[in-house]
Amino acid sequence: MNKKLDELLKYSRKYVPFYSRIKGHESVHKAYEFMPVVSKEIMARKPETFISTQYEARSLENYLTSGSSGRPLTIYKSKRDVYKSSRQLWFWRKNEYGVSLHDKMCSLYIRSLARPLMPTTFVDGNILYLSAIKMDSNTIIEYLSAMKNFMPLWIYSNPSSLYLFVKYALDAGCYTMPNIKYIELSGELLYDNYRECFSKFFSNAKIANLYGVREINAIAFELSCGHLHVLDDNFYLEHYGDNILVTGLNNYAMPFIKYIVEDNVKIEDSSCANGGQIISILNSRETDFVLLENSKLASPTLFHVWIEKINTPLTKVIQYQVRQTDRNTLCFSIVLKRKTKENIILIKQELVNLYVQSIFNNLNLDIEIVDVIHIDKLTGKYKYFYNDIVSIAVRKE
Ligand SMILES: [Zn+2]
Repeated sequence: MNKKLDELLKYSRKYVPFYSRIKGHESVHKAYEFMPVVSKEIMARKPETFISTQYEARSLENYLTSGSSGRPLTIYKSKRDVYKSSRQLWFWRKNEYGVSLHDKMCSLYIRSLARPLMPTTFVDGNILYLSAIKMDSNTIIEYLSAMKNFMPLWIYSNPSSLYLFVKYALDAGCYTMPNIKYIELSGELLYDNYRECFSKFFSNAKIANLYGVREINAIAFELSCGHLHVLDDNFYLEHYGDNILVTGLNNYAMPFIKYIVEDNVKIEDSSCANGGQIISILNSRETDFVLLENSKLASPTLFHVWIEKINTPLTKVIQYQVRQTDRNTLCFSIVLKRKTKENIILIKQELVNLYVQSIFNNLNLDIEIVDVIHIDKLTGKYKYFYNDIVSIAVRKE
């Protein structure tokens, strides 16, 4: 039995209200078996019962995970948790790709209403932030100039945002960025055609895929052998049907024990010199692009921001989904908390106002109020945007 897992279970039984109530695990070695499987929904119902009594929530760092498919969940971590859970990743980044914590980095970030006043580009310490949501023909000029001035050594992004960045940079007459030494991609499936596109544009960069869940952080990291190696100092993993159960070995302020991650992931022992376990991602989050009237592509993430705006300060939209059904049409399906006549008119109007000021305003907008939005049959996940006419993804067969 894993010693770190043992310690975490003992601690949770003693100090975390949700786990201290669970009977039938007197023997430490059996404790793991008796622990219940926990989903995001279960945690979001009573999040305070998952926080250790050894900490005060106010004194902890917190992160809000976006709640497009249901209730958002606030995650709490102590400084010690954050430090301990990032150690192995930084060790590997340094050893495999030569980047360290103090190197200049560029992050393509997804703006959230949690921090509404964040500008399109800004520098915080050794990180240059560029808004992935605002990526278009105009902002790319600002982004390229910011990168030229700042000279980052490496880039952290999700694959679709970086793909858009490269497309717009090429359109703007920037054909390569040889100063970038390393690129780390996370948050979505990394398609082969994306990888090829990045290798060409960032001609001197090594590329690594980082698999993680927003709630708990990085789970597996692509080493130069090409495998996604599990960060075993951080996680204990097991299969759960097609999904996995994740236990964060360095999360003490708010433990994640047997937490379901609804990606289709295969875990196996590696046969390479790096040892440990490796994973293959069979299905995970994907992002389609919106095709604009001028045939350019745009990120659909802005729709998230709109719904967040409409839902501030009170939740009015419970779920939504957007579909581009043809070259000229975006269809919004919306589930309302209160389906009154006044509410329907009000929310449709709010959405139209946001839409007319956006880069999508040359497309027709259809809004329909529905009772429920179903999850994607293929991935078992809720997907907020579909493009029925273009597919950008090319996967390895
Ligand atoms: Zn390997």
